[in-house]
Amino acid sequence: LTSELQALRHLPSETSDGYLVPLYLNTGLVSEARPLGIEESSGVGLYRTELPFIVRDTFPGETAQMSNYRRVLELFAPRPVTIRTLDIGGDKPLPYFPMHEANPFLGWRGIRITLDQPEIFLTQVRAILRASIGLDNLQILLPMISTVGEVDEALLLIHRAHEELLEEGYQVRLPPIGVMIEVPAAVYQCEALARRVDFLSVGTNDLTQYLLAVDRNNAHVAKLYDEFHPAVLRALLQILAGARVHGREVSVCGEMAGDPLATFLLLGMGVHSLSMGAGSLLRVKRVIRSISRARAREVLKVALQCEDAASVRRLLLDAIEAVG
Ligand code: PEP
Ligand code: MG
Repeated sequence: LTSELQALRHLPSETSDGYLVPLYLNTGLVSEARPLGIEESSGVGLYRTELPFIVRDTFPGETAQMSNYRRVLELFAPRPVTIRTLDIGGDKPLPYFPMHEANPFLGWRGIRITLDQPEIFLTQVRAILRASIGLDNLQILLPMISTVGEVDEALLLIHRAHEELLEEGYQVRLPPIGVMIEVPAAVYQCEALARRVDFLSVGTNDLTQYLLAVDRNNAHVAKLYDEFHPAVLRALLQILAGARVHGREVSVCGEMAGDPLATFLLLGMGVHSLSMGAGSLLRVKRVIRSISRARAREVLKVALQCEDAASVRRLLLDAIEAVG
């Protein structure tokens, strides 16, 4: 299988009927992306920025952040790199920014923190914009959005940082901006969110956790965590419908995107691109190249009749077996 997969490295990620599904990398570490994935991928679909914040003992300044973002933008240019603004809180605490919450996953997380502390957000956005000067492959992604107000506020701050930099003489451009759909409320407001931004990216890890009310790191309930739960599939359909109204593309960047079983469903739904860990790229590409869109739609149609995740999984295992 390994040599069969290796043979796919330089082949396009397209279905048997010629439909391209770009595959992007998830990473938070330039050194991790380097060995595998620059040639194989269409770029970075999710650059998690938490790491440089976690390994320090104070907030990194604009210049330190900028050189970090510049490295990944340069490494992948001209391929797009989607840099997500800071998503601390929940399962990603910062040692120097203590938070004591009874329910961290329902608490101060992601965009909620950075909008409450706009200097953190502005410093990061300035660093990201400056890092992209002359490269033109940047996209910005906003995590944990649950209201349109958060998007409006974040856009205002991004525009402010952009104006400031222009006034200071930097030749910065405003990049495409997208939001993560990972909170159930955002699913139901997809259309209003899509109107405000350039693209949507579905975080199926958090979305599944919040839809099913399951912390997958809790051994007592982990068995209930399943991305093939019919509720998750219906949420994905609703996200695509909302995005379509405004002609926005939808990417999936949670773990589900890297699961070859899920490829049938995501292709069938018409997801535009997938972003995953480097280790999943070729396995997913293999499924994409083995099936047509019509086949994926057929599998999806049957999957949507299933009433639980186990039946969906059985169906997908049969489908993948047929692929060989
Ligand atoms: C997700 O929630 O699916 C996601 C991609 O974000 P993270 O895993 O970084 O929370
Ligand atoms: Mg998330």
